[in-house]
Amino acid sequence: MGPATFSILFIVGIMVILGVLIMNSGAKRARAAARRADAPCGHPNEPGAQFCSRCGEKLPDEET
Ligand SMILES: [Zn+2]
Repeated sequence: MGPATFSILFIVGIMVILGVLIMNSGAKRARAAARRADAPCGHPNEPGAQFCSRCGEKLPDEET
C-alpha cells in the first residue's frame, strides 16, 4: 500500500464523514420544517419565525 493508496483512502474517508454530517443537518432541518408546518393552518413559515405569517398563530419553539 503506497502513499497514493493512502491518500485516496484518506480523501474517501473525509467525503464519507462530510456526507454523514450534511445528511444529519438536512434531517434536522426537515424535522424543524415539519414542526413549523404543524401550525393550525399548515402554512409553511420562514425558519425562525415565531408566529404564522398567515393566521398569526404562535408556532412551536424551535430546538436550538
Ligand atoms: Zn397559520
